Amino acid sequence: MFTKHPGGLRLLTVHAHPDDESSKGAATLARYVAEGVDVLVATCTGGERGSVLNPAMDRPEVWAELPRIRREEMAAARDILGVGQRFLGFTDSGMPGPGEPLPDDCFAAQEVEVAAAPLVALIREFRPHVVVTYDETGGYPHPDHVMTHRVTVEAFEAAADPDRHPEAGEPWQAAKLYYHLALSRAWFQTLHDAMPEQGVPSAMGELLADWPDTPPALATTTRITCAEQFAVRDAALLAHATQVEPGAAFMAHPRDIEREVWPTEDYHLARCLLPGAGEVPATELYKTGPYETDLFSGLRS
Ligand SMILES: [Zn+2]
Repeated sequence: MFTKHPGGLRLLTVHAHPDDESSKGAATLARYVAEGVDVLVATCTGGERGSVLNPAMDRPEVWAELPRIRREEMAAARDILGVGQRFLGFTDSGMPGPGEPLPDDCFAAQEVEVAAAPLVALIREFRPHVVVTYDETGGYPHPDHVMTHRVTVEAFEAAADPDRHPEAGEPWQAAKLYYHLALSRAWFQTLHDAMPEQGVPSAMGELLADWPDTPPALATTTRITCAEQFAVRDAALLAHATQVEPGAAFMAHPRDIEREVWPTEDYHLARCLLPGAGEVPATELYKTGPYETDLFSGLRS
């Protein structure tokens, strides 16, 4: 049902909300789809407690129907990217204010082991070679993003263990686990610096001024060239019309400048179970240059 190319390579990416797949790593997904890889997006929650971030969509009838509208937006983005997509069925945790408790019914309030069960079943059904998700910070301090990391790491391991979730299908060991390094400070800074050089004002200055310039916690191990897919990425992101303001800083920089100064999406190889892994650090495996340039390096025959 999932696999258009039986026997081919499969990529699973796990995200917290509809729209995250289009703002983090979407051009990578489109590139692999174009190469004939089967790509599946797992979306943990329905984004029910999200806001309407686009003033043009900030209308009572949109708020009243937000869960349905977000599902339709997700379906549109899925078709633009050419990927498969599954909801894992959890309820959005929302972004609690300081000291505010999480709603009992929400994704981030669940026990990790229990919440990983639907993803274990999905991994055993889809049998991905590569899994991609957020790092332990969530990449963004939303409780659902941190929970998505925990659940994915748990499911990556549990799916391979015949003693865990025996009701959920035949065990499957994915070979590699990556974390997104998308929307990094360095990415914003590079674009911010390049724009004035080409006579374009940057709208990123305010964002950068409030963002401490500390070294990233995780090394970039892998850079996927996907500049040709930026237009597909943008179209998918704009399909999430309630979530994206067309004039926002992320949407405003000229794409020709981005293609020139940052033509990749970047990742950290967190787990590698291919032969040779463990003998040398995963970050040094399968590098063909200063960086690994393919999520499937070591997996292609
Ligand atoms: Zn999100």
